[in-house]
Amino acid sequence: NDDQFKKVIAHAKEYGYVFQSSEIYDGLSAVYDYAQNGVELKKNICDYWWKAMVQMHDNIVGLDAAIFMHPTTWKASGHIDAFNDPLIDNKDSKKRYRADVLVEDYCGKLEAKIEKEIKKAKKRFGDAFNKEEFVSTNGRVLGYQEKIDTILKRLGKSLENEDLADVKALIEELDIADPVSGSKNWTDVKQFNLMFGTKLGASADSAMDLYLRPETAQGIFVNFLNVQKTGRMKIPFGIAQIGKAFRNEIVARQFIFRQREFEQMEMQFFVKPGTQKEWYESWKDTRMKWHLSLGLGKDNYRFHDHEKLAHYADAAADIEFRFPFGFKELEGIHSRTDFDLSQHEKFSGKKMQYFDHEENKSYVPYVIETSIGLDRMFLAVFSNALMEEELDNNTTRTVLKLPAVLAPTKAAVLPLVKKDGLPEIAKQIVDDLKWDFNVSYDEKDAVGRRYRRQDANGTPFCITVDHDTLEDNTVTIRHRDTMEQKRVNIEELRDIIKKEVDV
Ligand code: ATP
Repeated sequence: NDDQFKKVIAHAKEYGYVFQSSEIYDGLSAVYDYAQNGVELKKNICDYWWKAMVQMHDNIVGLDAAIFMHPTTWKASGHIDAFNDPLIDNKDSKKRYRADVLVEDYCGKLEAKIEKEIKKAKKRFGDAFNKEEFVSTNGRVLGYQEKIDTILKRLGKSLENEDLADVKALIEELDIADPVSGSKNWTDVKQFNLMFGTKLGASADSAMDLYLRPETAQGIFVNFLNVQKTGRMKIPFGIAQIGKAFRNEIVARQFIFRQREFEQMEMQFFVKPGTQKEWYESWKDTRMKWHLSLGLGKDNYRFHDHEKLAHYADAAADIEFRFPFGFKELEGIHSRTDFDLSQHEKFSGKKMQYFDHEENKSYVPYVIETSIGLDRMFLAVFSNALMEEELDNNTTRTVLKLPAVLAPTKAAVLPLVKKDGLPEIAKQIVDDLKWDFNVSYDEKDAVGRRYRRQDANGTPFCITVDHDTLEDNTVTIRHRDTMEQKRVNIEELRDIIKKEVDV
Protein backbone atom coordinates (compact mmCIF):
# COMPACT_ATOMS: atom_id res chain seq x y z
CA ASN A 1 0.00 0.00 0.00
CA ASP A 2 2.27 2.69 -1.39
CA ASP A 3 -0.04 5.63 -0.81
CA GLN A 4 -0.53 4.83 2.85
CA PHE A 5 3.24 4.50 3.29
CA LYS A 6 3.88 7.86 1.62
CA LYS A 7 1.34 9.42 3.97
CA VAL A 8 3.13 7.89 6.95
CA ILE A 9 6.48 9.36 5.88
CA ALA A 10 4.98 12.79 5.15
CA HIS A 11 3.09 12.84 8.44
CA ALA A 12 6.19 11.84 10.39
CA LYS A 13 7.95 14.87 8.97
CA GLU A 14 5.10 17.36 9.19
CA TYR A 15 4.40 16.62 12.83
CA GLY A 16 7.99 16.57 14.05
CA TYR A 17 8.51 12.82 14.40
CA VAL A 18 11.20 11.87 11.88
CA PHE A 19 13.42 13.95 9.62
CA GLN A 20 15.89 12.85 7.00
CA SER A 21 19.42 13.21 8.42
CA SER A 22 21.39 16.25 7.15
CA GLU A 23 18.41 17.33 5.11
CA ILE A 24 19.92 20.72 4.20
CA TYR A 25 22.65 18.79 2.35
CA ASP A 26 20.03 16.69 0.56
CA GLY A 27 20.11 14.03 3.24
CA LEU A 28 22.17 10.95 3.90
CA SER A 29 20.67 7.79 2.53
CA ALA A 30 19.01 5.52 5.11
CA VAL A 31 19.96 7.69 8.07
CA TYR A 32 17.25 9.53 10.00
CA ASP A 33 16.86 11.98 12.86
CA TYR A 34 14.12 11.76 15.44
CA ALA A 35 12.52 15.14 16.04
CA GLN A 36 10.78 16.66 19.05
CA ASN A 37 7.85 14.23 19.03
CA GLY A 38 9.76 11.27 17.62
CA VAL A 39 12.29 11.34 20.39
CA GLU A 40 9.50 11.17 22.99
CA LEU A 41 7.74 8.31 21.23
CA LYS A 42 11.02 6.44 20.95
CA LYS A 43 11.80 6.99 24.61
CA ASN A 44 8.34 5.76 25.61
CA ILE A 45 8.80 2.59 23.54
CA CYS A 46 12.16 2.02 25.28
CA ASP A 47 10.56 2.53 28.69
CA TYR A 48 7.70 0.21 27.86
CA TRP A 49 10.16 -2.49 26.82
CA TRP A 50 12.56 -1.89 29.72
CA LYS A 51 9.78 -2.00 32.26
CA ALA A 52 8.43 -5.29 30.88
CA MET A 53 11.85 -6.91 30.52
CA VAL A 54 13.96 -5.57 33.40
CA GLN A 55 11.70 -4.04 36.03
CA MET A 56 9.12 -6.85 35.91
CA HIS A 57 11.66 -9.71 35.91
CA ASP A 58 13.71 -10.10 39.07
CA ASN A 59 16.18 -12.27 37.13
CA ILE A 60 16.89 -9.79 34.31
CA VAL A 61 19.27 -6.86 34.69
CA GLY A 62 20.37 -4.10 32.35
CA LEU A 63 23.64 -3.18 30.67
CA ASP A 64 24.95 -0.35 28.52
CA ALA A 65 28.06 -1.60 26.75
CA ALA A 66 30.22 0.58 24.50
CA ILE A 67 29.66 0.68 20.76
CA PHE A 68 33.37 0.13 20.13
CA MET A 69 34.61 -3.30 21.07
CA HIS A 70 37.92 -5.08 20.78
CA PRO A 71 38.19 -6.21 17.14
CA THR A 72 38.66 -9.85 18.11
CA THR A 73 35.04 -9.78 19.32
CA TRP A 74 33.92 -9.82 15.70
CA LYS A 75 36.24 -12.64 14.73
CA ALA A 76 34.84 -14.71 17.58
CA SER A 77 31.24 -13.86 16.80
CA GLY A 78 31.67 -14.78 13.15
CA HIS A 79 30.81 -11.32 11.83
CA ILE A 80 34.11 -10.80 10.04
CA ASP A 81 33.77 -14.02 8.10
CA ALA A 82 30.08 -14.39 7.69
CA PHE A 83 28.15 -11.15 8.16
CA ASN A 84 27.52 -10.83 4.46
CA ASP A 85 24.59 -10.10 2.29
CA PRO A 86 24.37 -11.03 -1.36
CA LEU A 87 24.35 -7.93 -3.55
CA ILE A 88 23.58 -7.36 -7.17
CA ASP A 89 24.12 -4.28 -9.34
CA ASN A 90 21.78 -3.19 -12.04
CA LYS A 91 23.84 -2.37 -15.12
CA ASP A 92 21.42 0.21 -16.46
CA SER A 93 20.42 2.15 -13.37
CA LYS A 94 23.83 1.66 -11.69
CA LYS A 95 21.89 0.95 -8.51
CA ARG A 96 22.94 -1.70 -6.02
CA TYR A 97 20.47 -4.02 -4.29
CA ARG A 98 20.41 -6.82 -1.78
CA ALA A 99 19.56 -9.82 -3.90
CA ASP A 100 17.63 -11.55 -1.12
CA VAL A 101 15.57 -8.44 -0.48
CA LEU A 102 14.58 -8.28 -4.15
CA VAL A 103 13.31 -11.85 -3.96
CA GLU A 104 11.53 -11.22 -0.67
CA ASP A 105 9.88 -8.10 -2.10
CA TYR A 106 8.60 -10.24 -4.94
CA CYS A 107 7.04 -12.58 -2.38
CA GLY A 108 5.60 -9.53 -0.60
CA LYS A 109 3.74 -8.70 -3.79
CA LEU A 110 2.25 -12.20 -3.86
CA GLU A 111 1.26 -11.76 -0.23
CA ALA A 112 -0.47 -8.51 -1.10
CA LYS A 113 -2.50 -10.46 -3.67
CA ILE A 114 -3.58 -12.90 -0.99
CA GLU A 115 -4.62 -10.02 1.27
CA LYS A 116 -6.64 -8.55 -1.58
CA GLU A 117 -8.49 -11.83 -2.13
CA ILE A 118 -9.26 -12.00 1.58
CA LYS A 119 -10.55 -8.44 1.63
CA LYS A 120 -12.76 -9.08 -1.41
CA ALA A 121 -14.20 -12.23 0.13
CA LYS A 122 -14.77 -10.50 3.47
CA LYS A 123 -16.83 -7.87 1.71
CA ARG A 124 -18.81 -10.47 -0.19
CA PHE A 125 -19.57 -12.86 2.63
CA GLY A 126 -19.92 -10.30 5.43
CA ASP A 127 -20.43 -11.81 8.86
CA ALA A 128 -20.39 -15.34 7.45
CA PHE A 129 -16.74 -14.91 6.40
CA ASN A 130 -14.31 -17.28 8.05
CA LYS A 131 -10.70 -16.43 7.25
CA GLU A 132 -9.15 -19.79 8.12
CA GLU A 133 -11.70 -21.66 6.07
CA PHE A 134 -11.39 -19.29 3.14
CA VAL A 135 -7.60 -19.50 3.08
CA SER A 136 -7.54 -23.28 3.35
CA THR A 137 -10.05 -23.85 0.55
CA ASN A 138 -9.41 -21.08 -1.97
CA GLY A 139 -7.40 -22.45 -4.86
CA ARG A 140 -5.94 -19.14 -5.96
CA VAL A 141 -4.83 -18.16 -2.48
CA LEU A 142 -3.31 -21.60 -1.95
CA GLY A 143 -1.48 -21.26 -5.25
CA TYR A 144 0.08 -17.95 -4.24
CA GLN A 145 1.01 -19.31 -0.83
CA GLU A 146 2.62 -22.39 -2.34
CA LYS A 147 4.64 -20.22 -4.70
CA ILE A 148 5.83 -18.00 -1.84
CA ASP A 149 6.85 -21.03 0.22
CA THR A 150 8.77 -22.58 -2.66
CA ILE A 151 10.60 -19.37 -3.53
CA LEU A 152 11.59 -18.62 0.06
CA LYS A 153 12.70 -22.18 0.65
CA ARG A 154 14.92 -22.07 -2.41
CA LEU A 155 16.29 -18.65 -1.45
CA GLY A 156 17.04 -19.93 2.05
CA LYS A 157 18.83 -22.96 0.71
CA SER A 158 20.99 -21.02 -1.74
CA LEU A 159 21.94 -18.44 0.90
CA GLU A 160 22.82 -21.15 3.35
CA ASN A 161 25.00 -22.92 0.79
CA GLU A 162 26.32 -19.57 -0.43
CA ASP A 163 25.16 -20.60 -3.86
CA LEU A 164 25.08 -17.13 -5.35
CA ALA A 165 24.58 -18.38 -8.90
CA ASP A 166 21.29 -19.88 -7.78
CA VAL A 167 20.19 -16.58 -6.20
CA LYS A 168 20.89 -14.95 -9.55
CA ALA A 169 19.01 -17.68 -11.39
CA LEU A 170 16.05 -17.20 -9.06
CA ILE A 171 15.94 -13.46 -9.79
CA GLU A 172 15.97 -14.24 -13.51
CA GLU A 173 13.31 -16.93 -13.29
CA LEU A 174 11.00 -14.68 -11.31
CA ASP A 175 11.61 -11.98 -13.91
CA ILE A 176 12.37 -9.40 -11.22
CA ALA A 177 13.12 -5.89 -12.44
CA ASP A 178 15.00 -2.97 -10.89
CA PRO A 179 12.37 -1.21 -8.74
CA VAL A 180 13.65 2.17 -9.96
CA SER A 181 14.49 1.78 -13.64
CA GLY A 182 12.49 -1.34 -14.49
CA SER A 183 15.59 -2.85 -16.11
CA LYS A 184 16.38 -6.55 -15.74
CA ASN A 185 20.01 -6.21 -16.71
CA TRP A 186 21.94 -7.47 -13.69
CA THR A 187 25.54 -8.26 -12.83
CA ASP A 188 26.49 -11.35 -10.93
CA VAL A 189 25.57 -11.72 -7.26
CA LYS A 190 28.46 -10.99 -4.86
CA GLN A 191 28.95 -11.16 -1.11
CA PHE A 192 29.23 -7.90 0.80
CA ASN A 193 30.22 -7.48 4.46
CA LEU A 194 27.82 -5.20 6.31
CA MET A 195 30.11 -3.95 9.07
CA PHE A 196 31.34 -0.35 9.09
CA GLY A 197 35.06 -0.11 9.73
CA THR A 198 36.92 2.69 11.45
CA LYS A 199 40.31 3.26 13.09
CA LEU A 200 41.44 3.79 16.66
CA GLY A 201 44.66 5.74 17.19
CA ALA A 202 46.39 8.53 15.28
CA SER A 203 49.53 7.14 13.71
CA ALA A 204 49.06 5.03 10.65
CA ASP A 205 51.28 2.14 11.76
CA SER A 206 49.83 1.72 15.24
CA ALA A 207 46.19 2.42 14.41
CA MET A 208 43.86 -0.43 15.16
CA ASP A 209 41.05 -1.45 12.87
CA LEU A 210 37.75 -1.24 14.67
CA TYR A 211 34.15 -1.86 13.68
CA LEU A 212 31.00 -0.11 14.67
CA ARG A 213 28.98 -2.88 16.30
CA PRO A 214 26.41 -4.44 13.96
CA GLU A 215 24.40 -5.76 16.93
CA THR A 216 24.32 -5.01 20.65
CA ALA A 217 24.37 -8.68 21.68
CA GLN A 218 28.15 -9.12 21.76
CA GLY A 219 28.50 -6.44 24.47
CA ILE A 220 26.29 -8.66 26.60
CA PHE A 221 28.19 -11.87 25.86
CA VAL A 222 31.62 -10.48 26.72
CA ASN A 223 30.23 -9.09 30.00
CA PHE A 224 28.36 -12.24 30.91
CA LEU A 225 30.59 -13.28 33.80
CA ASN A 226 31.14 -9.72 35.06
CA VAL A 227 27.41 -9.25 35.45
CA GLN A 228 26.79 -12.76 36.77
CA LYS A 229 29.42 -12.42 39.48
CA THR A 230 28.86 -8.83 40.57
CA GLY A 231 25.08 -9.25 40.46
CA ARG A 232 25.26 -12.73 42.02
CA MET A 233 22.90 -13.91 39.30
CA LYS A 234 21.70 -17.49 39.24
CA ILE A 235 20.83 -19.30 36.06
CA PRO A 236 18.36 -18.83 34.46
CA PHE A 237 18.92 -15.07 34.19
CA GLY A 238 18.98 -12.41 31.53
CA ILE A 239 20.85 -9.26 30.54
CA ALA A 240 19.00 -6.56 28.61
CA GLN A 241 20.39 -3.70 26.59
CA ILE A 242 19.16 -0.87 24.38
CA GLY A 243 21.66 0.72 22.04
CA LYS A 244 22.78 1.75 18.59
CA ALA A 245 23.89 -0.72 15.96
CA PHE A 246 25.31 -0.03 12.51
CA ARG A 247 25.02 -1.94 9.27
CA ASN A 248 26.12 -0.86 5.83
CA GLU A 249 22.85 -2.03 4.31
CA ILE A 250 23.03 -2.27 0.56
CA VAL A 251 19.47 -1.51 -0.11
CA ALA A 252 18.10 0.99 2.28
CA ARG A 253 14.61 1.91 1.26
CA GLN A 254 11.47 1.68 3.35
CA PHE A 255 12.14 4.70 5.55
CA ILE A 256 13.22 3.81 9.10
CA PHE A 257 12.55 0.09 8.55
CA ARG A 258 16.05 -0.55 7.23
CA GLN A 259 18.61 2.01 8.27
CA ARG A 260 22.38 2.15 8.39
CA GLU A 261 22.34 3.44 11.97
CA PHE A 262 19.56 2.08 14.15
CA GLU A 263 18.73 0.95 17.65
CA GLN A 264 18.15 -2.49 19.05
CA MET A 265 16.50 -3.64 22.26
CA GLU A 266 18.05 -7.00 23.00
CA MET A 267 17.91 -9.47 25.84
CA GLN A 268 20.10 -12.52 26.22
CA PHE A 269 18.71 -15.14 28.56
CA PHE A 270 21.22 -17.64 29.94
CA VAL A 271 19.88 -21.10 30.68
CA LYS A 272 21.04 -24.58 31.64
CA PRO A 273 21.94 -26.71 28.59
CA GLY A 274 19.02 -28.97 27.77
CA THR A 275 16.38 -26.49 28.92
CA GLN A 276 16.68 -24.18 25.91
CA LYS A 277 13.65 -25.55 24.05
CA GLU A 278 11.27 -24.72 26.89
CA TRP A 279 12.77 -21.27 27.36
CA TYR A 280 12.64 -20.58 23.65
CA GLU A 281 8.91 -21.37 23.56
CA SER A 282 8.34 -19.40 26.72
CA TRP A 283 10.09 -16.28 25.35
CA LYS A 284 8.21 -16.52 22.06
CA ASP A 285 5.02 -16.44 24.07
CA THR A 286 6.13 -13.66 26.41
CA ARG A 287 7.28 -11.43 23.59
CA MET A 288 4.10 -11.88 21.58
CA LYS A 289 2.06 -11.00 24.67
CA TRP A 290 4.13 -7.83 25.06
CA HIS A 291 3.25 -6.81 21.51
CA LEU A 292 -0.43 -7.63 21.92
CA SER A 293 -0.60 -5.61 25.14
CA LEU A 294 -0.18 -2.45 23.08
CA GLY A 295 -3.43 -3.08 21.26
CA LEU A 296 -2.23 -2.66 17.68
CA GLY A 297 -4.43 -5.57 16.63
CA LYS A 298 -3.86 -9.32 16.82
CA ASP A 299 -4.21 -9.75 13.05
CA ASN A 300 -1.21 -7.50 12.46
CA TYR A 301 1.25 -10.00 13.94
CA ARG A 302 2.38 -13.44 12.97
CA PHE A 303 5.24 -15.79 13.75
CA HIS A 304 7.59 -16.87 11.04
CA ASP A 305 9.47 -19.96 12.17
CA HIS A 306 12.80 -20.26 10.42
CA GLU A 307 13.46 -23.38 8.46
CA LYS A 308 16.87 -22.14 7.51
CA LEU A 309 18.86 -21.83 10.72
CA ALA A 310 22.15 -20.06 11.25
CA HIS A 311 24.81 -22.66 12.06
CA TYR A 312 24.84 -21.66 15.74
CA ALA A 313 21.08 -21.69 16.28
CA ASP A 314 18.88 -24.64 17.17
CA ALA A 315 15.62 -22.73 16.74
CA ALA A 316 14.64 -19.28 15.50
CA ALA A 317 11.48 -17.35 14.78
CA ASP A 318 10.56 -13.83 13.77
CA ILE A 319 7.62 -11.87 14.98
CA GLU A 320 6.41 -10.24 11.81
CA PHE A 321 4.24 -7.14 11.68
CA ARG A 322 1.94 -5.92 8.96
CA PHE A 323 3.79 -2.77 7.85
CA PRO A 324 2.29 -0.61 5.07
CA PHE A 325 4.47 -2.64 2.65
CA GLY A 326 3.39 -6.03 3.97
CA PHE A 327 4.35 -8.46 6.71
CA LYS A 328 8.03 -8.02 7.67
CA GLU A 329 10.33 -8.91 10.52
CA LEU A 330 9.94 -6.78 13.62
CA GLU A 331 11.64 -8.95 16.22
CA GLY A 332 13.75 -12.09 16.27
CA ILE A 333 13.73 -14.79 18.94
CA HIS A 334 16.70 -17.08 18.64
CA SER A 335 17.93 -20.11 20.50
CA ARG A 336 21.67 -19.50 20.04
CA THR A 337 23.00 -22.56 21.90
CA ASP A 338 26.37 -22.00 23.64
CA PHE A 339 27.92 -20.74 20.40
CA ASP A 340 28.72 -17.14 21.36
CA LEU A 341 30.07 -17.82 24.84
CA SER A 342 32.13 -20.79 23.62
CA GLN A 343 33.58 -18.72 20.81
CA HIS A 344 34.58 -15.94 23.21
CA GLU A 345 36.09 -18.56 25.49
CA LYS A 346 38.11 -19.87 22.57
CA PHE A 347 39.28 -16.49 21.25
CA SER A 348 39.98 -14.80 24.61
CA GLY A 349 41.38 -17.81 26.44
CA LYS A 350 39.17 -16.83 29.40
CA LYS A 351 36.67 -19.24 30.92
CA MET A 352 33.06 -18.32 30.17
CA GLN A 353 31.58 -20.89 32.47
CA TYR A 354 28.98 -20.75 35.17
CA PHE A 355 29.28 -22.80 38.32
CA ASP A 356 25.92 -24.33 39.08
CA HIS A 357 25.71 -24.95 42.82
CA GLU A 358 22.68 -27.20 42.55
CA GLU A 359 24.31 -29.42 39.94
CA ASN A 360 27.73 -28.96 41.52
CA LYS A 361 29.37 -28.47 38.12
CA SER A 362 30.48 -25.80 35.66
CA TYR A 363 29.11 -25.35 32.17
CA VAL A 364 28.81 -22.83 29.35
CA PRO A 365 25.18 -21.71 29.46
CA TYR A 366 22.85 -21.83 26.48
CA VAL A 367 21.30 -18.59 25.32
CA ILE A 368 17.86 -17.51 24.21
CA GLU A 369 17.89 -14.09 22.58
CA THR A 370 15.05 -11.68 21.97
CA SER A 371 16.04 -8.87 19.63
CA ILE A 372 13.74 -6.11 18.49
CA GLY A 373 14.55 -3.06 16.38
CA LEU A 374 13.46 0.09 18.19
CA ASP A 375 13.04 1.96 14.91
CA ARG A 376 10.97 -0.84 13.41
CA MET A 377 8.79 -0.84 16.51
CA PHE A 378 8.44 2.91 16.09
CA LEU A 379 7.35 2.42 12.49
CA ALA A 380 4.92 -0.33 13.48
CA VAL A 381 3.27 1.82 16.13
CA PHE A 382 3.28 4.98 14.03
CA SER A 383 2.04 3.53 10.75
CA ASN A 384 -0.67 1.55 12.51
CA ALA A 385 -1.88 4.65 14.35
CA LEU A 386 -2.23 6.98 11.38
CA MET A 387 -5.73 7.10 9.95
CA GLU A 388 -8.20 9.27 8.17
CA GLU A 389 -11.66 9.15 9.65
CA GLU A 390 -14.92 10.14 8.04
CA LEU A 391 -16.91 12.26 10.44
CA ASP A 392 -20.69 12.64 10.69
CA ASN A 393 -20.72 16.09 9.12
CA ASN A 394 -19.10 14.78 5.91
CA THR A 395 -15.65 16.00 6.80
CA THR A 396 -12.59 13.90 7.51
CA ARG A 397 -9.99 14.14 10.22
CA THR A 398 -6.44 12.87 10.34
CA VAL A 399 -5.81 11.20 13.64
CA LEU A 400 -2.77 9.45 15.06
CA LYS A 401 -4.21 6.86 17.41
CA LEU A 402 -1.01 6.06 19.29
CA PRO A 403 -1.42 3.88 22.38
CA ALA A 404 -1.80 6.46 25.16
CA VAL A 405 1.12 4.97 27.09
CA LEU A 406 3.42 5.73 24.13
CA ALA A 407 2.06 9.11 23.03
CA PRO A 408 4.69 11.89 23.19
CA THR A 409 2.31 14.37 24.81
CA LYS A 410 -0.44 13.04 27.05
CA ALA A 411 -2.60 16.16 27.15
CA ALA A 412 -2.82 19.58 25.57
CA VAL A 413 -4.33 22.39 27.61
CA LEU A 414 -6.26 24.96 25.59
CA PRO A 415 -7.77 28.22 26.76
CA LEU A 416 -10.93 28.81 24.73
CA VAL A 417 -9.93 32.45 24.17
CA LYS A 418 -6.74 34.39 24.77
CA LYS A 419 -8.25 36.72 27.38
CA ASP A 420 -10.41 36.97 30.50
CA GLY A 421 -7.85 35.11 32.59
CA LEU A 422 -8.34 31.80 30.74
CA PRO A 423 -4.68 31.50 29.57
CA GLU A 424 -3.51 31.92 33.16
CA ILE A 425 -5.70 29.07 34.39
CA ALA A 426 -4.63 26.87 31.47
CA LYS A 427 -0.97 27.55 32.20
CA GLN A 428 -1.52 26.71 35.84
CA ILE A 429 -3.02 23.35 34.82
CA VAL A 430 0.06 22.69 32.66
CA ASP A 431 2.33 23.56 35.57
CA ASP A 432 0.46 21.17 37.86
CA LEU A 433 0.29 18.25 35.45
CA LYS A 434 3.82 18.44 34.08
CA TRP A 435 5.19 16.78 37.22
CA ASP A 436 3.45 13.60 36.09
CA PHE A 437 3.13 13.78 32.31
CA ASN A 438 4.33 15.55 29.21
CA VAL A 439 1.67 18.19 28.64
CA SER A 440 1.57 21.10 26.24
CA TYR A 441 -0.13 24.47 26.04
CA ASP A 442 -1.77 25.71 22.84
CA GLU A 443 -3.69 28.95 22.41
CA LYS A 444 -3.32 29.60 18.67
CA ASP A 445 -6.31 29.32 16.26
CA ALA A 446 -9.92 28.38 16.87
CA VAL A 447 -10.39 25.54 19.33
CA GLY A 448 -11.69 23.16 16.62
CA ARG A 449 -8.46 23.57 14.69
CA ARG A 450 -6.45 23.00 17.81
CA TYR A 451 -8.33 19.74 18.40
CA ARG A 452 -7.47 18.60 14.87
CA ARG A 453 -3.84 19.53 15.38
CA GLN A 454 -3.67 17.51 18.59
CA ASP A 455 -5.47 14.58 16.91
CA ALA A 456 -2.85 14.54 14.17
CA ASN A 457 -0.13 14.84 16.76
CA GLY A 458 -1.40 11.79 18.63
CA THR A 459 -2.25 13.59 21.90
CA PRO A 460 -4.80 11.43 23.77
CA PHE A 461 -6.49 14.28 25.70
CA CYS A 462 -7.39 17.91 25.15
CA ILE A 463 -8.35 19.99 28.17
CA THR A 464 -10.27 23.15 27.43
CA VAL A 465 -10.58 26.05 29.83
CA ASP A 466 -13.63 28.28 29.19
CA HIS A 467 -15.66 30.93 30.98
CA ASP A 468 -17.51 28.35 33.08
CA THR A 469 -14.15 27.37 34.54
CA LEU A 470 -14.03 30.77 36.21
CA GLU A 471 -17.30 29.96 37.95
CA ASP A 472 -17.00 26.33 38.99
CA ASN A 473 -13.39 25.20 38.48
CA THR A 474 -14.43 22.64 35.83
CA VAL A 475 -12.94 22.09 32.37
CA THR A 476 -13.82 20.07 29.30
CA ILE A 477 -11.74 16.97 28.68
CA ARG A 478 -11.90 15.61 25.16
CA HIS A 479 -10.82 12.11 24.23
CA ARG A 480 -8.82 11.83 21.00
CA ASP A 481 -10.29 8.54 19.77
CA THR A 482 -13.96 8.91 20.66
CA MET A 483 -13.98 12.73 20.44
CA GLU A 484 -16.24 12.56 23.48
CA GLN A 485 -16.16 15.58 25.75
CA LYS A 486 -16.82 15.52 29.44
CA ARG A 487 -17.05 18.22 32.04
CA VAL A 488 -14.79 17.45 34.99
CA ASN A 489 -13.28 19.22 37.95
CA ILE A 490 -9.67 20.38 37.50
CA GLU A 491 -8.69 18.29 40.52
CA GLU A 492 -9.83 15.10 38.74
CA LEU A 493 -7.61 15.59 35.66
CA ARG A 494 -4.53 13.86 36.97
CA ASP A 495 -6.38 10.63 37.82
CA ILE A 496 -8.34 10.56 34.57
CA ILE A 497 -5.18 10.86 32.50
CA LYS A 498 -3.21 8.51 34.71
CA LYS A 499 -5.81 5.79 34.30
CA GLU A 500 -5.36 5.88 30.54
CA VAL A 501 -1.60 6.32 30.21
CA ASP A 502 -0.29 4.10 32.99
CA VAL A 503 0.74 0.62 32.00
P1 ATP B 1 16.58 -8.24 8.15
O1 ATP B 1 16.42 -9.67 7.72
O2 ATP B 1 15.32 -7.43 8.01
O3 ATP B 1 17.79 -7.57 7.61
P2 ATP B 1 17.93 -9.31 10.41
O4 ATP B 1 17.37 -10.68 10.44
O5 ATP B 1 19.27 -9.06 9.83
O6 ATP B 1 16.86 -8.30 9.74
P3 ATP B 1 18.61 -9.29 13.18
O7 ATP B 1 20.06 -9.38 12.91
O8 ATP B 1 17.88 -10.47 13.71
O9 ATP B 1 17.87 -8.71 11.87
O10 ATP B 1 18.37 -8.01 14.13
C1 ATP B 1 17.36 -7.97 15.11
C2 ATP B 1 16.39 -6.84 14.87
O11 ATP B 1 17.07 -5.62 14.60
C3 ATP B 1 15.49 -7.05 13.66
O12 ATP B 1 14.38 -7.84 13.99
C4 ATP B 1 15.11 -5.65 13.30
O13 ATP B 1 13.98 -5.23 14.05
C5 ATP B 1 16.30 -4.82 13.71
N1 ATP B 1 17.10 -4.44 12.53
C6 ATP B 1 18.01 -5.20 11.88
N2 ATP B 1 18.56 -4.52 10.86
C7 ATP B 1 18.00 -3.28 10.87
C8 ATP B 1 18.17 -2.11 10.09
N3 ATP B 1 19.05 -2.06 9.09
N4 ATP B 1 17.42 -1.02 10.38
C9 ATP B 1 16.54 -1.04 11.40
N5 ATP B 1 16.35 -2.11 12.17
C10 ATP B 1 17.06 -3.23 11.94
